[in-house]
Amino acid sequence: NSYEMHDRTAVVTGAASGMGAATAVLLAAGGARVALLARRRDRIEELVAKIEASGGRALAVPVDVTDVASVTAATDRVTAAYGRADLVVNAAGVMLPNPIGDGREDEWTRMIDTNLTGALRIIRAFLPGLRAAAADGRPADLVNISSIGAHVTFPQYAVYSATKAALTQLSASLRTELGAEAVRVTNIEPGLTDTELGGHVDNPELSAQLGAMFRAMPALSADDVADLIAYVTSRPRHVNLRQVIVLPTPQA
Ligand code: NDP
Repeated sequence: NSYEMHDRTAVVTGAASGMGAATAVLLAAGGARVALLARRRDRIEELVAKIEASGGRALAVPVDVTDVASVTAATDRVTAAYGRADLVVNAAGVMLPNPIGDGREDEWTRMIDTNLTGALRIIRAFLPGLRAAAADGRPADLVNISSIGAHVTFPQYAVYSATKAALTQLSASLRTELGAEAVRVTNIEPGLTDTELGGHVDNPELSAQLGAMFRAMPALSADDVADLIAYVTSRPRHVNLRQVIVLPTPQA
């Protein structure tokens, strides 16, 4: 599928892999100018080259969303190259499950600082551009990638799920604050999706459990989720799919 994205300027975090990468490619295919934000410079530069080779416009912007100075520098780069952004996707995230009794504060901090506060830093940085686009009568989209984990509970995933529940509530609350200004806020909650996310799980038992889930059912692909993001952001600007849960059909 492709979606009409001409005249749009998008910022996608987590664009080095998975859903963020697929979203950046799809938005660019629709004609958007897309800034790809993530830590791995080589990955985002490779994707930019791929987008440009097929006639799209893209910019690689290395950023660590846990570092406020890095987010400020990235925002300045995007603004200098493209002006204001009217479509912002928060896809950067990490999932580091472990039994709560292990007390892995390093993992708790990384998850909270990336999945929740990282999204907030990006929202703060790009909100003036979204507001200005909306005030001009143009589409203005903020999309947050939460998770089905915001609702469903899994043992050992308590902190990850807590960050996603917080992000879902953040989206719902921000919507009441920004919707009145015509900034459209969309919260997406995917289920099992085949990406690099599970590759950072350092608990062998939980890693094996995740592998078994992938063998037990056909997972969503990153492209499936990208398709949804492009769909919701290309509706007429008064139409807001505010919350979308997307699961592999067999996932309970
Ligand atoms: P990936 O691991 O493939 O993508 C995560 C992306 O986030 C990577 O591109 C990574 O790039 C980037 N990232 C991580 N930390 C930072 C940071 N500090 N600063 C900037 N970028 C960062 O996994 P997914 O595509 O699956 O994840 C996308 C989102 O979807 C996440 O929020 C995840 O929680 C959520 N999700 C995933 C599900 C799944 O089953 N896969 C299900 C439900 C939700 P780099 O390392 O280069 O920075």
